[in-house]
Amino acid sequence: MNQFLSRRFFILSPLIPFLKSILNPLMVHAASNDIHNDWSLTKDEWRKRLSSESFNILREEGTERPFSSPLNNEKRKGTFYCAGCSLALFSSDTKFDSGTGWPSFWDALEDAIETKIDFKLIVPRTEYHCSRCGGHQGHVFNDGPRPTGKRYCNNGLALTFKPE
Ligand SMILES: [Zn+2]
Repeated sequence: MNQFLSRRFFILSPLIPFLKSILNPLMVHAASNDIHNDWSLTKDEWRKRLSSESFNILREEGTERPFSSPLNNEKRKGTFYCAGCSLALFSSDTKFDSGTGWPSFWDALEDAIETKIDFKLIVPRTEYHCSRCGGHQGHVFNDGPRPTGKRYCNNGLALTFKPE
């Protein structure tokens, strides 16, 4: 039985990319996540939309120099948005001065971000990105203030700010 299945898979495997291309539009429709899919741009399309610095951070997981972003010292009330797709990510109510030189927050707005583990510095870190366009924002650590104990360490160039 197993042998039969693996043999059948072997025969079908060259067809898989083709089958996926047929099935993908159906899957997308079923997920009813149309907004997300509007932001599935190619690297070249992103390059046209963004400054080279923001492209490097949002689409290549780069990191800006500490203390380089004016948003690090932004203390007004307002909302921080994804610089890629303008989704609201953070409220000024959760911003705090972490002393790291990067805009820091102890919580994100609901459903605004998604996380994954990366190993860029060998030690695993939790990377987070915009839940709508997938743009890399920063890393989250467990040494933040109350009430969450989280520290979302964000690149300023990945954000825009609108005061209230
Ligand atoms: Zn975004």
